[in-house]
Amino acid sequence: MEHTSDVVAEGKVISETTYSRRSAQYTELDLGIAKIDFYDAKNKVVHEVKKSNKMEGAHEWQVKYYIFILEQQGVVGATGLLEYPKLKKTKEVTLSETDREFLRQTIHDIQTLVSSDNCPDLQKKTICKSCSYFEFCWSGELESVEG
Ligand code: SF4
Repeated sequence: MEHTSDVVAEGKVISETTYSRRSAQYTELDLGIAKIDFYDAKNKVVHEVKKSNKMEGAHEWQVKYYIFILEQQGVVGATGLLEYPKLKKTKEVTLSETDREFLRQTIHDIQTLVSSDNCPDLQKKTICKSCSYFEFCWSGELESVEG
């Protein structure tokens, strides 16, 4: 778990040093299947801090998923804010009906995959090296790294 721990620890250090008063303002929210580190309950805003120096679509989908789960648990009207301390940038995130449909379909596809008796074709990608799930993933057994 060293790989995962390092990635998580680095993000935690950046969050704590960049936003030292944050824990007093926002709530840590355990949703059961996901945990939101900084939730502004008063304004219903999910804050997600990224250590990355690149804004990525996957970051947006992470926050959209949090908003989606909040809705399922009765919190309507939440939005998100991605924060990139290294870039000194933020990006607002909202959840559209098209996003909801995409997430429903994706969750369905994942459930189908997980319950299948057949393992899908595996490919190790460059992104796997920084993935928090690397230790649990079959791709860790593969030799080559493709871009
Ligand atoms: S294939 Fe596995 S290690 Fe690579 S990004 Fe996906 S979950 Fe992470």
